[in-house]
Amino acid sequence: MSDPILLISGDSFSEQERTRLETALASAFVAGPSDMAALPDAVRSSVRAIAVKGHHPLGGAEMDLFPNLGVIANYGVGYDAIDVTAATERGINVTNTPDVLNDDVADLAVAMLIAQCRNMVAGDDLVRSGRWSAGENLPLNRQMSGSTVGIVGLGRIGREIADRLAAFKCDIHYTSRSRKETPGWTFHASPEEMAEAVDILVVALVGGVETEKHVSRQVIDALGPRGIVINISRGSTIDEAALLDALEEGRIAGAGLDVFLNEPKIDPRFLKLDNVHLQPHQGSGSSETRGRMAKLQLANIEAFLAGDPLKTPVN
Ligand code: NAP
Repeated sequence: MSDPILLISGDSFSEQERTRLETALASAFVAGPSDMAALPDAVRSSVRAIAVKGHHPLGGAEMDLFPNLGVIANYGVGYDAIDVTAATERGINVTNTPDVLNDDVADLAVAMLIAQCRNMVAGDDLVRSGRWSAGENLPLNRQMSGSTVGIVGLGRIGREIADRLAAFKCDIHYTSRSRKETPGWTFHASPEEMAEAVDILVVALVGGVETEKHVSRQVIDALGPRGIVINISRGSTIDEAALLDALEEGRIAGAGLDVFLNEPKIDPRFLKLDNVHLQPHQGSGSSETRGRMAKLQLANIEAFLAGDPLKTPVN
């Protein structure tokens, strides 16, 4: 192998994704985030690109291990694990994979909301367990169509969620840093104000320090007993302890969550609750979308190495 120019790093690349990168770029090698410092100097000096997947932090200290690094290409739209400020200070480009995953993530948000309102997991269990054929029925549940829903963060994914829920005849409210052009949806200046006006909150914010606990204890309390929280963003965007307290005490009706703090080792309090629908951070997890994300990650690395404009730059 010639000098490796590409470091493939992260805990969750599939065999197929790794092979694709290795085949496309002849001189690539794999090293986990914690193995980087142990690489020989000559190897580290030859690295010009890093392809990353997963949520392991990548900060200035790691970047400094690679003096000729020019691009960090993230697999995923959320790049909160990468210190973009540190990358910019070092002249390192960061890229991500926006838009190609919007539909899948929005689909999952709506699916979790319907599953929660219609008690679908309990319904499945009733049928499988034989209790339905023995005469037991599912208690009446709650209509989802026509609900009053607030989207926290009307960005690319938030917009897709809102469009879907509008087709379900929902009354759409949203909060973002700026007012958007919408078909008459109600804007709120803060999540606190919005939570007073809606039953259901769908969180579609970016992660990172700036949005930490943006959905605060006060926001959760303002939702009231019919409140449902759906989160497809990052665990950090919600005050998770406050959410757990409200769910345990029945102060809100339920939650549908694809993201958590400390995932996959999530707070065990969630596992004891029957008013939550839990998913294993699989928002973008269809083979079609993951294929598009992998292709876009590779296209960014190839563009960088060819000296062409990056496809989806972050900084
Ligand atoms: P986006 O288009 O950048 O939208 C992000 C939203 O967050 C925008 O509405 C933005 O507000 C808001 N925001 C950003 N910084 C903020 C701040 N400091 N305070 C308040 N609001 C802030 O991003 P996207 O493509 O929709 O992706 C959103 C996130 O979804 C990603 O960052 C990622 O964490 C998550 N995600 C999860 C999965 C999954 O598998 N569950 C998959 C993909 C993405 P403005 O509208 O005012 O700019």
